[in-house]
Amino acid sequence: MKASQLLSPTLRETPAEAEVISHQLLLRAGFIRKAAAGVYTYLPLAQRVLRKISDIVRQEMDREGGQEITLPIIQPAELWMESGRWNVYGDELFRLKDRHGRDFALGPTHEEIITDLVRGEIHSYKQLPLLLYQIANKYRDERRPRFGLMRGREFIMKDLYSFDRDEEGLANTYKKMYDAYTRVFTRCGLKFRPVEADAGAIGGKGGTHEFMVIAESGEAAIVYCDDCDYAANVEKAEAKPQSLAEEAAAELAEVKTPGVKTIEELTKFLGIESDRLIKTLIYQTEKGLVVAVIRGDRQLNEIKLQNLVDTVQLHLADDGVVRLLTGAEVGFAGPVQLPATVCIDGQQVQVQVIVDEEVTLVANGITGANKTDIHLKNVNYGRDFGAHQVTDLRMVEPGEPCPRCGSPLRWARGIEVGQVFKLGTKYSKALNANILDENGKSREMVMGCYGIGVSRTMASAIEQNYDENGIIWPVSIAPFHVIVVPVSAKDDTQMQAAEKIYGQLREMGIEVVLDDRNERPGVKFKDADLIGFPYRLTIGPKTLAEDKVEVFNRRTGQSSLEDIETVAKNIAELIKRELDQLVG
Ligand code: ATP
Ligand code: MG
Repeated sequence: MKASQLLSPTLRETPAEAEVISHQLLLRAGFIRKAAAGVYTYLPLAQRVLRKISDIVRQEMDREGGQEITLPIIQPAELWMESGRWNVYGDELFRLKDRHGRDFALGPTHEEIITDLVRGEIHSYKQLPLLLYQIANKYRDERRPRFGLMRGREFIMKDLYSFDRDEEGLANTYKKMYDAYTRVFTRCGLKFRPVEADAGAIGGKGGTHEFMVIAESGEAAIVYCDDCDYAANVEKAEAKPQSLAEEAAAELAEVKTPGVKTIEELTKFLGIESDRLIKTLIYQTEKGLVVAVIRGDRQLNEIKLQNLVDTVQLHLADDGVVRLLTGAEVGFAGPVQLPATVCIDGQQVQVQVIVDEEVTLVANGITGANKTDIHLKNVNYGRDFGAHQVTDLRMVEPGEPCPRCGSPLRWARGIEVGQVFKLGTKYSKALNANILDENGKSREMVMGCYGIGVSRTMASAIEQNYDENGIIWPVSIAPFHVIVVPVSAKDDTQMQAAEKIYGQLREMGIEVVLDDRNERPGVKFKDADLIGFPYRLTIGPKTLAEDKVEVFNRRTGQSSLEDIETVAKNIAELIKRELDQLVG
């Protein structure tokens, strides 16, 4: 490729709208252009990177027996109604109508459509396991599309769906995919960690891992242990109860706390630490009211609560509902003597109390009295209040021990580039995807699904590989391996030497650009650094006088002079070695 012909419009200035480095550099280096919020055009350089990532993904999926297909992006609403997700997926689903008024969705994920395909074609356990995948655009009307390709509304995903005859088969397939993902991200040259995660809207209770690229700009917080292999998204991380000093239970008593409502006001007013306080949070759900009780110094993990109660909707109760339940102003709720049901809008609503296990270890705690301007002191779990469930409800905090081995947990930020799920029979049950087993009995197929954000992986690679001059691509996914730069394109001797090396490299299968533009050398070097070619070969009057070429390594920043006769062969061998190392 000649640079004069390459559509890679570089920018000198950093575009103001770009907050994270990958977004800035993808725009500046001429990889992408925005069409609408969260919707981008991929220019040739980006397309090459995406193709390389996709090829790595394809090879690793095929290696595990995956078969590539293409599923429709436009999906009929009926299938989404059959699975029950038409109503629960919410505003993220792009919905549209055809000319006859029929409802459709642009696929944000493809469980419905693939289960529909497989239920029609597969009828015997002998045809399983079946692993089908595609690499295609996905559509999600994200609430906040941002960070360029990180959170788009149209983005590229590889999604694989597995169908097994039983749980054991699924466990086996899941392990294969987990290992394949590890190989994919290793080959892409990324530093990453698989972490235990929450299943979110995709669902399934069988377990799930996210693959996180470690980067400061990551939207997810993860915790991990250096002494064992525990690692989890904080949304999911288990919190071990920490006990406080023991104390004999004292007599329950009321304290007047006029106008003192918040945790801070209360600790100040009573002169106590917030770990003595018992905080009561009241939620409305489609399954009635849920009262979550945790220590005053802790944060409730709403995802844990939502999974536990198994609700679609969960939001903090309105002030009016709080007043109805507690009989007091907001700020004075507590778990002692709460009613078991409450009448809201003429309907009797159940009240479920869920207590964080740490609260059971608080001796003589303080909590709201369900009376305005009054709190209770010397409150003890068991004696003064009970629960429908006692469990882990809270967020882990920095400095806490690993739930497995007790060593201090470490914290990092991560970008989710992939996720693997054990779906179980959630979709096969809803859509009646059955097979006959070896005894001729009908049973539901057991499913898994496995996604990789291909466009997000490209952006993540930049978050981990850049400097003040631009991108530093890992060789395996670089748009080109080498750029050959004659210092002056007008000089015939330089151009001839450059053309010769360019030709030799191409013949050896190296992806190379010849910078034949009539630009100053400084401009060419800046562009080469910005785009992130792993190697730059420079030919100028000084190098030619010695029959040499300058070889610049973008990652190490080191230059060396090499013989003009052998440089192409040596560089080609070096690149092939680097690529082989990543394949493992
Ligand atoms: P997130 O929590 O970041 O919204 P998700 O958990 O909803 O992602 P999945 O349904 O697990 O995403 O999708 C599989 C992969 O697709 C993700 O691991 C991620 O790499 C990628 N992905 C998801 N949403 C987006 C998006 N809006 N833009 C770019 N890539 C995305
Ligand atoms: Mg996910």
